[in-house]
Amino acid sequence: MCALVDESIVAHEPEGCTAPRIRPAPTAAIRSLLRSPKTLWCPGCSNGIITRAIVDAVLGLELDTDKVVVFAGIGCSGRIANYLNVSTVHTAHGRALPFATGAKVADPSLKVIVVMGDGDCAAIGGNHLIHAARRNVDLTAVVFNNSIYGMTGGQKSPTTHVGDRSTTSPFGNSEPAFDLCGLAHAAGATYVARATSWDYRQLVQLIAGGLVHEGFSFVEAMAVCTTYYGRFNLTADPAEFLRAQREHAIPVEKFDYGETRLRDLYPVGVLHHVERPPYSDVYADMRRQAKEGRGG
Ligand code: SF4
Repeated sequence: MCALVDESIVAHEPEGCTAPRIRPAPTAAIRSLLRSPKTLWCPGCSNGIITRAIVDAVLGLELDTDKVVVFAGIGCSGRIANYLNVSTVHTAHGRALPFATGAKVADPSLKVIVVMGDGDCAAIGGNHLIHAARRNVDLTAVVFNNSIYGMTGGQKSPTTHVGDRSTTSPFGNSEPAFDLCGLAHAAGATYVARATSWDYRQLVQLIAGGLVHEGFSFVEAMAVCTTYYGRFNLTADPAEFLRAQREHAIPVEKFDYGETRLRDLYPVGVLHHVERPPYSDVYADMRRQAKEGRGG
């Protein structure tokens, strides 16, 4: 786990989050949900912070961990499947959401969490993202957005901003980036939130908000990749990178979409929250009607 977690930091209290206030779990409890305290993530990477935030949210909500299943795709974030001490499924690249959808529909009692990177979620798995959101599948997608492909060597991803450098855009990226939260919202997600790795408490709270929400919840966790994104574009120093996140993150209620570029400033908090019947309920109802011989 990254040593940069400072549990005393509380920057922004999220409005619109219906989860009870989560208190940080004792370290021993956190460790009980980890298979090993060691990871293969680079020193200074914030994937450990986000992983710990997921664990803190699960523990804070006192979820039955026998019912928690974590699906992960491929990429640096996908390694979480090896580290969590709950049921995990390490799926193919971009395919975590369809695996998770199948599991949730087959057993609606499961608490399903999907971990994806930005490339995993918006490039290879972009199609699955929009349809899982449209269907309102009752799961929580946590996207570790480091704005680059880390595991494969620092190539540009769908969230690399115009002008950003990567190994495949050494003179600056020419393509606009996706606003992942905007994409999820437009596709039909019923809970959409964003937090930074810097504001740990907010991140935990927003993930918890997604876990208590019934329907497709999407949490974009702004990640720190010093090895590639930071070294090419910002800083290779993880503490400086986290401080930059503090500067870039604006509480959503104060954010002006008209004047800002998401690379430099972005809204954090609950960006969208509505209620709509989750897919498993709708599907179960359809099955019931079919069994009763009702319908066309
Ligand atoms: Fe983290 Fe980047 Fe290293 Fe991947 S390449 S483990 S995202 S710092």
